[in-house]
Amino acid sequence: MAAIDMRNIVKEYGDGFKAVNDVSIDVADGEFMILVGPSGCGKSTLLRMVVGLEDITSGDMVIGERTVNDLAPRDRNLAMVFQNYALYPHLSVFENIAFPLRLAGASNEEVDRKVREASATLELDEHLDRKPGNLSGGQRQRVAMGRAIVRDADAFLFDEPLSNLDAKLRGQMRTEISRMQKRLGITTIYVTHDQTEAMTLGDRVAVLKRGFLQQLATPRELYENPGNLFVAGFIGSPPMNFMPATVEGTSLKLPFGTVEIPAAKAEKAAGKGLLIAGVRPEHFEDASVVRGGTSGDTFRAEVDVVEWLGNEAYAYIPFEVEAELRAELDQLERDLEGEGTRTQLVVSLDGASQIKEGDEAEIWIDAERIHLFDPSTGENLTVDREKAGRIPDLKDTEAAPA
Ligand code: ATP
Repeated sequence: MAAIDMRNIVKEYGDGFKAVNDVSIDVADGEFMILVGPSGCGKSTLLRMVVGLEDITSGDMVIGERTVNDLAPRDRNLAMVFQNYALYPHLSVFENIAFPLRLAGASNEEVDRKVREASATLELDEHLDRKPGNLSGGQRQRVAMGRAIVRDADAFLFDEPLSNLDAKLRGQMRTEISRMQKRLGITTIYVTHDQTEAMTLGDRVAVLKRGFLQQLATPRELYENPGNLFVAGFIGSPPMNFMPATVEGTSLKLPFGTVEIPAAKAEKAAGKGLLIAGVRPEHFEDASVVRGGTSGDTFRAEVDVVEWLGNEAYAYIPFEVEAELRAELDQLERDLEGEGTRTQLVVSLDGASQIKEGDEAEIWIDAERIHLFDPSTGENLTVDREKAGRIPDLKDTEAAPA
C-alpha cells in the first residue's frame, strides 16, 4: 500500500483545453478518497493521470516515495477495479482471481495460496468454482477486487463503477465496496458524479468544478462548512436553498421576513450589500413541533405545496429573486446541472406537522446554520475555516463559482 500525492497537477489537452488546473490532492496510505464533480470537471482525467493512461502536462504524481510521471501504467503497481465486464465469463471465479498471477508466471502453489487468501477476505470461498455469469452483482464486484488484491497493488482505483446499476443495487454495492475497503485498508481513489456516493464512501472528498479543486474535506466538513456556493449546492440532498439576503446589525432580511442571526455571523457579512443566503431544507421546521428551548427564529410564509412522506414532509414556498442576483443564481444552477433557477424554498418538516397547502404557516429556521455567500465570488463568508478542510484560493475568474 502507498500514499498518493498529486502535486500541482495540470492537464492541457492537444487542442489547448485545460481539463485539470493546478490540482493538489494528498491521499494518505489506506485512505478512501473520492473525486466528485459534474460532468466534464476533470475527475476521470485526473484518475487516468494517476494510473498513467494520460500524460501529465505539469506537476508531480508521487506514489509512495516515487515520482511516477514518466512510469508506464504497468510499472505503477495500481489496480483499476472494473465491474463485471472485466471478468472472463468462461473462467471460474478462482481462475478469474488467479489471472494476473498466471500472467506473471506464478507457481501453482503460489496461485493457490494467494487466491484462497483473497477469497477468504472477500467471502468468496464457496463460489470459487462458479462462473461470473451465475454470481450477483456484489459477488462479481468482489471477484474484480480479488483480482486486484492478489497483485498486491498499492492502491485501488474506481471510475464510476456503479453508474449503470439501478438504485437498489447501487445502494447494496456501495455498502459492499465500503465494507471491503475498510477490511483491506487499501488506499483507494474513487471517481463519481454522485454526491451520495461521495458522502457515504469517502474518508475525504475532493470536489472539482471545471478542472479546479473547490474543496478537499471530510463529508461532514463539506456538509457543515462548504467553502463556496458550488460546494454548498452540490453536497446535500435535497439541495441547499439559495435566496437573496441583506444584513443589518444582527438582522437578516430574507424574502419571507427578517430573522435574527448570531452576532459573529452577522459581523462577517457586514457592509457587503446584497448577499445569497444558503439554508438546507432540514434546517427549517414547522414552528409548532420545535421543542421549547431550541434557539433560532421564526417567520410566517404561505405554503404552496406539501409532499407528505410519512417520516417527513416537504413544503414548497415560492419567493422572488432580485434582478441583480438572477444572473449569479442562473449560472450556479447551470454549474450544478439543475433545471433553471430555483425560486421556491424547499422546507423539510417533521412527519407530525399538520401544515397544509395554502396555509400561512409559522416556520422555524436554525439561525446558527444559515450560510451567507458573496454573490460575486461565490465565497462562503460565514464558513468556519478550522472545520472546512482545505479550500484552495481560487482567484481565477474561471474558478469562481457562479
Ligand atoms: P464525465 O463524468 O462526463 O466523464 P469528467 O469529470 O470525468 O466527466 P473528464 O473526462 O476528465 O471529465 O474531462 C474533462 C474535460 O476534458 C472535459 O471538458 C472533456 O471534454 C475534456 N477532454 C477529455 N478528453 C479530451 C481530449 N482528448 N482532448 C480534449 N479535451 C478533452
